Amino acid sequence: MSRRESAIELPEGDDCAFCDYLSGRRPYTVLWREDQVAVLVTREQRGIGHLLVLPNRHVPSLLHLFDGEAEAMMVALRDAAITIDSAYKRPGVAVWQNNGVAAHQAIPHLHFHVAGTLPGGGTDFGDVPELSVDATDVIGHRLASFVPQRPHSGRRVNSELTNQTLPE
Ligand SMILES: [Zn+2]
Repeated sequence: MSRRESAIELPEGDDCAFCDYLSGRRPYTVLWREDQVAVLVTREQRGIGHLLVLPNRHVPSLLHLFDGEAEAMMVALRDAAITIDSAYKRPGVAVWQNNGVAAHQAIPHLHFHVAGTLPGGGTDFGDVPELSVDATDVIGHRLASFVPQRPHSGRRVNSELTNQTLPE
C-alpha cells in the first residue's frame, strides 16, 4: 500500500514503543487484546484509570486507519470509557488523541487516551510521574473485572491481571 499523502509531520524514530509493548519486547500493562485493537494502562496517568486504545497494526496516525479498524477502535473506546466508569465512578471521562508533532503526538503509532477526571476536574497535561509496570498492573487489576465481554471481536482480558492478587 502506498503511503498516504498528508501534511502531517509525524514524530521521527525507527522503533515504535507501542509495537514493542504489543509484542512483549518491552514490559507494559496490557488490559485487553482483540483481533484488531489493544488497550493498555499508561505509565503516565493523566487522569484516573488512564488507558490507551490503539490498533495492533502499526498505524502512524488517525489519517492512516482502515475502515474496519476504525469501527473496532470506536467500540473499544466506548468500552474503555465504560470500564473506567464502572471501576472508578468518576463524574467525567475524557477522550483525546493527537496527530503530528505540532499536535503533541510523541509516538508514531495511533493511540487514543481515555481517562476518568481528577478530583479537581479535568486531566493533567503537565509533568506527571512515570509509574512502574507493577503500579500500572495494580490499576489494570482494578479495571479488569469491569471490561465488557465482546467475544466476536476476539476480546481477551489479560488473565495475569484477573488472576493475580494485587492490592486494590
Ligand atoms: Zn507501532
